Amino acid sequence: MTSAVLDALHAAVPRDSVVTDPDVVESYRHDRAMTISPGHPIALVRAGSTAEVRATLEVASRFGVPVVTRGAGTGLSGGSSAVDGCITLSTERMRAVRIDRAGMQAVVQPGLLNAELKAAARAEGLWYPPDPSSYEICSIGGNLATNAGGLCCVKYGVTTDYVLGLEVVLADGRTLRLGGSTVKNVAGYDLKRLFIGSEGTLGVITEATLALRPVPPVPTTIAATFPDAVRAGEAVAAITASLRPSALELMDAAAIDAVQRVTPMGFGSEVGALLIAQTDADPAEADVVAEHCRAAGAADVVVSDDEVEGELLMGARRRAITCVERLGAVLIEDVGVPVPRVPELIAAVADVAARRRTLVPVIGHAGDGNLHPLVTFDPTDHAARDRAEVAFDEIMDAALDLGGTVTGEHGIGSLKARQLGRQLGDDVMELTRTVKAALDPAGILNPGKWI
Ligand SMILES: Cc1cc2nc3c(=O)[nH]c(=O)nc-3n(C[C@H](O)[C@H](O)[C@H](O)COP(=O)(O)OP(=O)(O)OC[C@H]3O[C@@H](n4cnc5c(N)ncnc54)[C@H](O)[C@@H]3O)c2cc1C
Repeated sequence: MTSAVLDALHAAVPRDSVVTDPDVVESYRHDRAMTISPGHPIALVRAGSTAEVRATLEVASRFGVPVVTRGAGTGLSGGSSAVDGCITLSTERMRAVRIDRAGMQAVVQPGLLNAELKAAARAEGLWYPPDPSSYEICSIGGNLATNAGGLCCVKYGVTTDYVLGLEVVLADGRTLRLGGSTVKNVAGYDLKRLFIGSEGTLGVITEATLALRPVPPVPTTIAATFPDAVRAGEAVAAITASLRPSALELMDAAAIDAVQRVTPMGFGSEVGALLIAQTDADPAEADVVAEHCRAAGAADVVVSDDEVEGELLMGARRRAITCVERLGAVLIEDVGVPVPRVPELIAAVADVAARRRTLVPVIGHAGDGNLHPLVTFDPTDHAARDRAEVAFDEIMDAALDLGGTVTGEHGIGSLKARQLGRQLGDDVMELTRTVKAALDPAGILNPGKWI
């Protein structure tokens, strides 16, 4: 059957779009969730257009072959990791972008990198806000399919808040246009939202119309160190109860240590946590943030208008995951809780780490209540891996017990499937399966992950 599928693909899309070279296919086999063992695809299709996506899905549908859609492969949950016998459908060649200055919007193909959209908007004096830490390397299609968040989301919202319209190809090749290019649009169900965050399980996003904003003012940065992370969490709760910073990021001592092994920042071992806040509104807000930090027990608070200094600190925070990955294998959590419960979540993570004798550096978009405890272990030590896996599940349980979610922005992928049922409950899981069956009755899109 494999050769029949390949013949059909070669007949349906230009020859150079279909790749079977094992070395090349191998490099598209997994995303950044390196603890997951991906399957083996039969081919990679590097689609160059919506028509090629449609043709690929028609072939896959005819033969009942699974399709795993892939943007830039920076996902942290195994969402774009291959399954056995699949076609890996890469959008990386679909990178067109058109900026409508007057309408303050962009029409983009899914393979465009987030940073490329930001640059195109900037060239017209505009701004695309969603800013995952991976913005330089992740694609807009991946951002849409995971409803990516980021650092400025605490004030400016997440990917879905900027989506006006989508073009989507369904499993059987039908191509839909959902939403449009108007700011307001309530005609029918808001079906485009169904595809945002659907992780390649309902259709392939081939174009998006995205709202842009005016470039915000240069922010003031507030860096506060705390003797422990719980107190930093208390400052987060107090700050967000009184104003909306444009970023509010947290790193605990283990995360700071991991970053300082790569880029020394001058923090001593007495620093238990670092809070980095930014405000691009009234400069007086910076003083309010600083005051909340001091009231929560900050040891040191520095306020700076220097854009370069602020970016250095934020840059260190953005690199934290890659720095922790140098310490061992990492199971990356993405738990979220209501913001006032951030201190309890931090305490719960510390408790799990101690009980399971596992290193769990904590970073996160604390202002959104979204933390990334990084469950780290030596991959050659089987007992350590087992303890890490238990710790991983217990941290998700703790977030759910606090009224939270097992994923705030990275998606379920393969990594968090076990916990999804507990969070959603039987009725919602059944409805979810009904929606999936309506759009992808043969179940060929990203099968065997969480649905
Ligand atoms: C160092 C680092 C920092 C990160 N920081 C953040 C962060 O701050 N915030 C955040 O949200 N994420 C973050 N991420 C995770 C990741 O970058 C995001 O999830 C990103 O949105 C994935 O984009 P991608 O193009 O790499 O998608 P991929 O990994 O290729 O795919 C992700 C999912 O989307 C699906 N998909 C991709 N394209 C399409 C499409 N066109 N149509 C339908 N489905 C599609 C895939 O099947 C898969 O399920 C980080 C990752 C790294 C490595």
